[in-house]
Amino acid sequence: MSEDVLSVIPTDPLWQPERSAGERLAAVLAELAFGLPSEADVEIDITWHDVVTAVDCGANLERIGCPLCGDSIDAGWWEDLLESHADDGFATLAVDAPCCGGATSLDALLYDWPCGFARFEAAVWNPERTWFGDEELALLGSLLGHPVKQVRAHI
Ligand SMILES: [Zn+2]
Repeated sequence: MSEDVLSVIPTDPLWQPERSAGERLAAVLAELAFGLPSEADVEIDITWHDVVTAVDCGANLERIGCPLCGDSIDAGWWEDLLESHADDGFATLAVDAPCCGGATSLDALLYDWPCGFARFEAAVWNPERTWFGDEELALLGSLLGHPVKQVRAHI
């Protein structure tokens, strides 16, 4: 069975919230994503990663663009990269783009749909909505203590 996961992550891949801020975020996410309060089966996972971890959009990924030369980056390259860092995360996001060889950051590549890297993730499983709006993201960011962005995965 396929699932949809809408994740909220800090815009800075290294940044982590306090535990209380992460839990506050999860409570408000439940309200936004499912229209709580209710006894609905809400599944929200909040995770503090020790290392920088990829937050991938799964089957929603249509294209990765290079910010340096504008070429498309091969999806196989991205899949291999995710696989090889699945267990131990990313010690650095610095990378030589496979298209033009230029030095860039994995976080700077142009992912469509969005992907990200994070040491904190709040994942809403099968939300009753597609995306959070700009104002909601601003609210979530202020609760967390850092600006956030969203990644929607189909897995
Ligand atoms: Zn390039």
